[in-house]
Amino acid sequence: MCGSKSAEKYLLCFLCVGFCVLNCFGSVAPGLVHITERDGDSGVYRFILQDDESDRLLFNREERGFYVNEPLQVTLVRKKMLRVRFYSPRPVKNLVIWGKWKGMPEQVKLAEFERIPAFSECTVPLLFTRSDVCYETRSGNQVVVAKSRHVSDLETEIECADPYYCKIVSSKCRWHVSFGAYQGKHWTPLLPAHAREAVAIALNLSYLFSTEEFMRELFTAEGRLYADNNHTQVNVEKLYRQIFELPALVYGHVTGVNGLGGGSVFGLAEWCYLEHYADDNCVTRTIFHEFAHCLGYNHTGNMTYENGLGKGWVALCSALYTKMSVNEELPVYSRRFLSTRGCPYLYSVSASL
Ligand SMILES: [Zn+2]
Repeated sequence: MCGSKSAEKYLLCFLCVGFCVLNCFGSVAPGLVHITERDGDSGVYRFILQDDESDRLLFNREERGFYVNEPLQVTLVRKKMLRVRFYSPRPVKNLVIWGKWKGMPEQVKLAEFERIPAFSECTVPLLFTRSDVCYETRSGNQVVVAKSRHVSDLETEIECADPYYCKIVSSKCRWHVSFGAYQGKHWTPLLPAHAREAVAIALNLSYLFSTEEFMRELFTAEGRLYADNNHTQVNVEKLYRQIFELPALVYGHVTGVNGLGGGSVFGLAEWCYLEHYADDNCVTRTIFHEFAHCLGYNHTGNMTYENGLGKGWVALCSALYTKMSVNEELPVYSRRFLSTRGCPYLYSVSASL
């Protein structure tokens, strides 16, 4: 609801152009879109990466792809709506979208959501495109935004204090995550259930690599990580940098091998998508093996296999992943968030039928 009149607000009205700071009363309707938890049950949200999703959507990087540190996307659609799309196995609570036009002194509250469900999508109207509306500003004033305002000048910002949300967006990684329709020997189509787990794995890796603990462990291992069988030591500073400079990960599904990786290609067998949690079989060796290939390491040294050179990259990362999963520190620390083992649309399930 909008506030009451005040002389100060009317004074400000003379100083601004296009945005009159005054009270919202009379015919000026509020512009804020508020989505309650109850709205979530009444079809406001659609869901992404679901089992019936078409390959055309799943393998379209424009439609299904995100930056690992920006899993909640806010996009302007049809010049009058904001689309919120969330690549996350867990929901978040109390999220606000603020907006600001060029020349405007303050942001206004465009939309607020009591709860955004996991893997959901929601389109909300920008009410100022229909008529003059009143918004609340950051400082609690009321501002009327005229219908003549251009949507293209609008810049949005997400605010959310949910600890899970803060955790996933604080990552130092900037990988673009998407899903590949790889074909050929050892490649079989990635299923939506794999894609959902791929998001969980990406968020977990991204968090793990961004922690102080990982940095400490990696730098402590300096001198014990080898790039080849001649004991050529890995430059851990360079390795640490490489993780954050990696531009993209494109997940795929392999059969007949545990994984296939290199460049941005990140292929994993179905079991790898299921067993990475501490409350499942707690096995992540292939994930970190393929990730090392993505960083440019081959099968010599101890960055993928150990080759008699002692514990290397995979052992270091796997131990940390397990510890953080047990301690419920990883963003998606338990298999219960996705319950993929209960999904009937898996290769292992259809093979056993
Ligand atoms: Zn390999």
